[in-house]
Amino acid sequence: MNLEALVRPNIWSLQPYSSARSEFKGSAEVFLDANENPFETGLNRYPDPLQWKLKEKIAAIKQVPKEHIFLGNGSDEAIDLLLRIFCEPGIDHIVTLPPTYGMYRVSADICNVSVKEIPLTQNFQPDVDAILSVKHPNAKVLFLCSPNNPTGNNFDLDAMKTIMSEFEGIVVVDEAYIDFTERLSCTQLLEEFPNLVVLQTFSKAWGLAGIRLGMAFASKEIIDLFNKVKPPYNINQLTQNAALEALNNAPQYEAWLAAILEQRNCLQTELSKLDFVQYIYPTDANFLLIRVDDPDDLYQYLVQQKIIVRNRSKVLLCDGCLRITVGKPEEDQRLMNQLAAYPSTVLN
Ligand SMILES: *Cc1c(COP(=O)(O)O)cnc(C)c1O
Repeated sequence: MNLEALVRPNIWSLQPYSSARSEFKGSAEVFLDANENPFETGLNRYPDPLQWKLKEKIAAIKQVPKEHIFLGNGSDEAIDLLLRIFCEPGIDHIVTLPPTYGMYRVSADICNVSVKEIPLTQNFQPDVDAILSVKHPNAKVLFLCSPNNPTGNNFDLDAMKTIMSEFEGIVVVDEAYIDFTERLSCTQLLEEFPNLVVLQTFSKAWGLAGIRLGMAFASKEIIDLFNKVKPPYNINQLTQNAALEALNNAPQYEAWLAAILEQRNCLQTELSKLDFVQYIYPTDANFLLIRVDDPDDLYQYLVQQKIIVRNRSKVLLCDGCLRITVGKPEEDQRLMNQLAAYPSTVLN
């Protein structure tokens, strides 16, 4: 792969901002270089622009060297930076496989980058032949979301590898839901495929959607491009502290994960007993996609009961579908109680 040929020329030649703290190399005791307030609050200093302490911890857990990690203000920042690094506005495009996560298109629209959509097959798998027929030099970035949102399934691993080896641009595998599946992460394929970028997040299994922290794993060369383009202090100190604390409390993460997976099974069993539920799609994520008789009516009914699910019934290949996040046991019980009362409520 010729990385330079994929990167926008202005980004390739960019001289990045050099912050006070990154210019100084060595050890010091008195910091009069960054115009900070000298009085200690725990937050009066600028944070480490490259978050090394946090990356060391993530590297150990994810088995990926720290130089191969980028941290963003949510995965959404990584998606946005990928667009800005590789796609020339008005000229290049990205490839997405709908139905999938909406941010790929929004980021592309913001950057004035067009989106080539290649729908998933009926069983929600990538259409490999159709994807590889895009032999366009301007197709710079392809997004594979596995497990996919909103369909919940993993993509076939051989299909993904074929795409990684044949697609002539960057292949991004968005693994926001990787914690909820038995499938191994594609991070183990990084050495084999230099065009691969794997995204993960603290927003789902780690219970930290509020701190906005996403991870990108890729070759050192691609990570260097992220670091060149990112705002100098994109991960604030509070976020770095909270993430370190969570990573040092693995038992809490394990316990939540076990509880969510058990609740997922429970919900699947209970939902399958309802006659207006036509189909429950198999899931490798922390949500269930279900096809029901009248999705709009059921959605509105649940809103009246102050229960919000995601109505995906207008989305390609998702006719009749609602997406339900697995909640706490008492929340899922409340949902099931209301669903049990649903048809009779309508008849009354
Ligand atoms: C929830 C989700 C994310 C997470 O985005 P953050 O910005 O890290 O919160 C990323 N990708 C997909 C497919 C998601 O569903």
